[in-house]
Amino acid sequence: MEPQKTTERPRTGQNYRQNTYKKRPFYFRKKVCLVCQKSLEDEIDYKNVMFLRKFVSEKGKIIPRRLSGTCAKHQRFLTRSIKQARTIALLPFTQL
Ligand SMILES: [Zn+2]
Repeated sequence: MEPQKTTERPRTGQNYRQNTYKKRPFYFRKKVCLVCQKSLEDEIDYKNVMFLRKFVSEKGKIIPRRLSGTCAKHQRFLTRSIKQARTIALLPFTQL
């Protein structure tokens, strides 16, 4: 019987945090399209590898819109130019 230990358990803190999170589950920061924000539409080109690499993960995958925050229009342009760059071996399909 040690009442002090029970109060110091981290589990209670975690439970409290979970409960508070449940009250507002749809809280997230709004992402802004990087291309729209800085008007870099001319930068989207299959030859501009340094720019396209920002939208490709470590493994060589194209980062989805829900993670990168790019708008639908620019994501379409980006995926097209990334795929073009892949076929002429400027970007990798996969990376170890
Ligand atoms: Zn955009």
